[in-house]
Amino acid sequence: MPEYRHDPLTGRMVIIAEERAARPHQFDITGTDTAGNVSICPFCEGNESRTPGELAAFRPAGSPPDTPGWTVRTVPNKYPAVLPGHPSGEAESGSRQEMPPPAADISFRQAEGIGLHEVIIDTPRHVFSISGLTVPETAAMLAMYRQRLAAARRADTWAYVQIFKNVGAAAGASLPHSHSQLIAMPFIPPSVNRLRREPPDASCFWCRMVQQELKQKERIVEETEHFTVLCPFVSRFAGETEIYPKSHESAFDRTGENTLAELAEVLRRTIQRLEKAVFWMKGSLAYNVILNTEPLRPGWTEIYHWHFSVLPSLARAAGFEWGTGLHINPVSPEQAAKRLRGGTENEN
Ligand SMILES: [Zn+2]
Ligand SMILES: [Zn+2]
Repeated sequence: MPEYRHDPLTGRMVIIAEERAARPHQFDITGTDTAGNVSICPFCEGNESRTPGELAAFRPAGSPPDTPGWTVRTVPNKYPAVLPGHPSGEAESGSRQEMPPPAADISFRQAEGIGLHEVIIDTPRHVFSISGLTVPETAAMLAMYRQRLAAARRADTWAYVQIFKNVGAAAGASLPHSHSQLIAMPFIPPSVNRLRREPPDASCFWCRMVQQELKQKERIVEETEHFTVLCPFVSRFAGETEIYPKSHESAFDRTGENTLAELAEVLRRTIQRLEKAVFWMKGSLAYNVILNTEPLRPGWTEIYHWHFSVLPSLARAAGFEWGTGLHINPVSPEQAAKRLRGGTENEN
């Protein structure tokens, strides 16, 4: 069973998950050539038997699960970092969300690593990056994010859901076929909990920040009817980019159907801009996409503003970053935004 551990000094938490070590790494086994080897890819259409049975899929009515014909498919992670826990459940109420009280004199705390770990297969096609998806495929991927997030909320067990995407070996992906992951946890991670503010300061920081950035313009990459794309003032990585809905929305699972297609276009174009700006990556840019959405606990709706973060993997965090927590970024967000704005006109 995996385990959450908490450090009383720093508040840092980790998940100890030894089962993860057994994961196969297609990138490592066969090098970059596997990008084309669909016969062994567990995420390609026709290879459904190579994954655990599906939890959800967009497929024609009447089409049986775990068969071809789907557009987006969600399966349990075969090598999960966390596990759903015992069906009997030690507590049905909210009590099991908290870490148990300190047991030893240095107050190390630990808890069973319960949670959900799902893989969302973005497309039946063997595609590497979001830029290789069509806009409708990207919209379907986002619709699946919304649906799985809503399902996790309904379970009424989880306090925080992280949806994320690792693209390319340098960004932590072990398989090249475009996919996303969802991890649901029974508590709010410390880095998110720190964002909590009580009255009288309990208004939305992000609403004010986006307004200010739209006025200043220098870090804005793109503005559409409902979304703002910008390089954050404190960018840790070259080309770090964020996508915000213009109106205040705390929960991605409650975002409207009507803006999903626009968001899909904006997200896909953002990736294309990055891939073009980083021309030496020749369309194989490694990056992470992170969906930040409100914790599934009361008290966040006024202060949390969902957004996507895109983090290009152009350099590894190294000794100084690990030692100090400060990132050294060789490209200012002002320069990055300028370069990205120049990006994709007349291109698709
Ligand atoms: Zn594939
Ligand atoms: Zn807001």
